[in-house]
Amino acid sequence: MLKQVTQIALASKAEQVVVVTGHEQHKVQQQLAHLPLEFIHNDEYDSGKASSIGKGIRSLDQSVRGVIIMLGDMPLIETQHLNCLIDRFEALPEDAIVVPYTSEQRGNPLLWGCSHFGALRSLTGEQGGKELLAHFSSKINYVALPSSAIHMDFDTPDSLLSAPHTELIRRQFPLLAQQDQSHALCYLDSSATTPMPQVVLDTMYQFETGSRSNVGRGSHHLARRADQAFDLARQQVASYVGAASKEEIIFTSGTTMGINLLASSLAQEWETGDEIVISKAEHHSNSLPWISLAKRHGFCLKIIPLLAEGRLDLSKLSSIIGPRCRLVAVTHVSNVTGAISDLTTLVKAAHTLGAQVLVDGAQAVAHGPIDVSDLGVDYYVFSGHKCYGPTGIGVIWGKLGALNKLKPFFTGGGMVHSLDLASLSMTIVKGTSRFEAGTPPIAQAVGLGAALQWLSQLPWAFIKQQQGFMCQYLLEYLMLHDQIFLLGPHNNEARQPIISFTHTQHHAHDIVHLLDQHGIATRGGHHCAQPLMQHFDVMASTRVSLGVFNTMTDIKYFINSLQQAITTLEA
Ligand code: PMP
Repeated sequence: MLKQVTQIALASKAEQVVVVTGHEQHKVQQQLAHLPLEFIHNDEYDSGKASSIGKGIRSLDQSVRGVIIMLGDMPLIETQHLNCLIDRFEALPEDAIVVPYTSEQRGNPLLWGCSHFGALRSLTGEQGGKELLAHFSSKINYVALPSSAIHMDFDTPDSLLSAPHTELIRRQFPLLAQQDQSHALCYLDSSATTPMPQVVLDTMYQFETGSRSNVGRGSHHLARRADQAFDLARQQVASYVGAASKEEIIFTSGTTMGINLLASSLAQEWETGDEIVISKAEHHSNSLPWISLAKRHGFCLKIIPLLAEGRLDLSKLSSIIGPRCRLVAVTHVSNVTGAISDLTTLVKAAHTLGAQVLVDGAQAVAHGPIDVSDLGVDYYVFSGHKCYGPTGIGVIWGKLGALNKLKPFFTGGGMVHSLDLASLSMTIVKGTSRFEAGTPPIAQAVGLGAALQWLSQLPWAFIKQQQGFMCQYLLEYLMLHDQIFLLGPHNNEARQPIISFTHTQHHAHDIVHLLDQHGIATRGGHHCAQPLMQHFDVMASTRVSLGVFNTMTDIKYFINSLQQAITTLEA
């Protein structure tokens, strides 16, 4: 397509044609070598913040009286460059601009820029990109691109499009190899649960067939092996979250159980009238336990409100976290919007007043190793099945000092030294076993250890770049649609690759159902976050959530399928 667009440009009245290459510089130059073009390499591209359009505009010879805007696929165009573009527009003679553009195009650069830069929207008399184009319509020659061009992509670096890393990662997931009718499975529901890589399945199989035994009880050789495997798993989890020691890791059955366990244990130390702070963005697993607790014991629940785009509004934190606050319990990453909470500010405010901070990390752990000491929180809770491990296992990380002060809530086998029925006295063991009464999910813990060990070895710099790119691409696509309403931040900053949206005419479940017919797994519903949905005044949304195995091919397939689903629903 680049070639076609360039030829169109050269056939026009252009005096100067500048091709800005954000990546694959040599490849683009080689492809267009026979054409009289100027090439500029946009070396800021890799930072993800560069605007090739801006760079192109700045590099145009000031004496040139026409501007050719080349179609860009990912114009992260900054307001200053758009203003520069507007200046050029204004200075141009009638009929001087060629904008390669079709109405179905995902958006020419100008339209894109205008559609999501507030500063441009607020221009006097302008209401966005379409108005801006309309304003300069006499100066614009629209050049229709062939419709086949719409689905072509020349701006996605090849290295990301058919990324060897991702391909290697993807091949490790047996679940993803399946075909549904004629479609390969396109899995975009990692926030609900992630598939497991082969290494996790193998590790669990080896444990079950070679070492299965109970832990912390037996002394025969299988029991010793099981103890070792369980111990290794705890160490692997500790390393992944940056714990000071494996004694800070408690195995639970999942995030929900972890939060309930902490809630019940913590409450034993609190008094009526003490305060718990949560946010309006919480998953029900991090709101209901606190609501029940507050009702049962007379604690007061305070709620951090949200900004319009769904991020936590921390501006009035001093009136929410008061001297009677015992705990601030917030999500690290929203399971609906992908927004990352500002834990630094929350931790500072809570700790200043002696309150503890519990973080629901269910949606964060799959996106790279974390460092609990860096986060400065007191408790961090997550589930194995959302970070490439098995279901039925979860983790509480707690600061050793905090855990040592905590009274266990669950009681049963494995957590006492001695029990005397005559005096009803018991002595509780030290260490993590205090909180793990009964037989733990052993093979699941072993599988989780393997999953986190595997995750920690992935090329995260590459994955984050790729996921950022995919997320931005999808966000910009969704924002182009008048009838699609995006829940959550409209930019890609401080978010994980989780994107939810609604359609003004069609229910999320219908969209999810039609996408499923294309072999695409997404999630529709309220995502167990009803207060957050109420904030956006919607009942349900369609959620796309990415895993380490997703590629641009998935995103493009999703976009095409969504278009088709909407067309079907409108037929
Ligand atoms: N918190 C968040 C943010 C979640 O996304 C989820 C799962 N959707 C949970 C808690 C609950 O996790 P689990 O069902 O594994 O206990």
